[in-house]
Amino acid sequence: MGFERIAIIGLGLLGGSIGLAVKECLPGAVTTGYDADPATRTRAAERGLVDHVHDSAAEAVRAAQLVILCVPVGAMGAVAVELAPALPADALISDVGSSKLSVARALAAALPGHAVIPAHPVAGTERSGADAGFASLFRHRWCIVTPPEGANPAKVAALAAFWEALGARVELMDPQHHDLVLAVTSHLPHLIAYTIVGTADDLEGVTQSEVIKYSAGGFRDFTRIAASDPTMWRDVFLSNKDAVLEMLQRFTEDLTALQRAIRVGDGEQLFDHFTRTRAIRRSIIEEGQDDARPDFGRSDHGG
Ligand code: NAP
Repeated sequence: MGFERIAIIGLGLLGGSIGLAVKECLPGAVTTGYDADPATRTRAAERGLVDHVHDSAAEAVRAAQLVILCVPVGAMGAVAVELAPALPADALISDVGSSKLSVARALAAALPGHAVIPAHPVAGTERSGADAGFASLFRHRWCIVTPPEGANPAKVAALAAFWEALGARVELMDPQHHDLVLAVTSHLPHLIAYTIVGTADDLEGVTQSEVIKYSAGGFRDFTRIAASDPTMWRDVFLSNKDAVLEMLQRFTEDLTALQRAIRVGDGEQLFDHFTRTRAIRRSIIEEGQDDARPDFGRSDHGG
């Protein structure tokens, strides 16, 4: 069951990238789109992110077979309520939200009787908005699909095939487990980056020009993450509160252990720890999930 009419709600980094990827990978499909921001709608039409940009979510989904919500996690429920009256009865609703349990609940509550299968393509950059999207965003990246209990297997397979057509690798996961895994691989690192960059900015005795001038000492990589969209990340932390707080507790304990090793001069503990983490970096490169080049190969796609 391939999708021929695909509606994308939210035409920023994720929505725009899906539109461009569909154009490239599924040329037979027709895409419609809507974004709450009129300037984004204008820019989306100029860039050709979707075939038809509409002035309401309802118009955009009216004939859709697949609807993908690409708005901040905190807006998912309200968008679903807005488009519900216009939704074709047999349309499949999915999303790209970075947390899954709260989104699954919000969509199920807003769209009873409709097929809802949430998903999360684990692909992104620190950029946002209608100019940020690019067609290859999902290539060789994982898309985690989190079907609710009793989901129609044919619809799950169709959604998986859609993401595979855009170049992604698909994994099925329970939404609660997704939230725990992503809390440690994505949400906590963002929180740490936001903290470090804020701390450096607050420091008296170190000027801002020194922070910028000597940023190559590790700080620079954190600033890239800490430049990520404030609305999106506010919503991620509020919606995945329990898993993030659990991982933060573990992190704090590990940080305290390293703090102690430094204080008591336990070089062996520090060396062993850094050796273990270096091996993880190597595995990520071997898995094709990052690039060993100094700029992580990011200059290739401008992201
Ligand atoms: P983005 O570039 O900011 O795009 C989101 C777009 O949705 C914005 O244009 C926003 O308009 C619009 N929007 C907000 N509320 C809306 C509403 N009620 N109806 C219609 N449009 C609305 O953000 P993004 O990075 O694409 O993120 C979108 C989703 O993808 C989020 O749920 C995020 O968690 C998830 N995600 C992001 C990444 C990443 O790395 N960025 C990766 C994977 C998944 P305004 O600007 O006017 O608010």
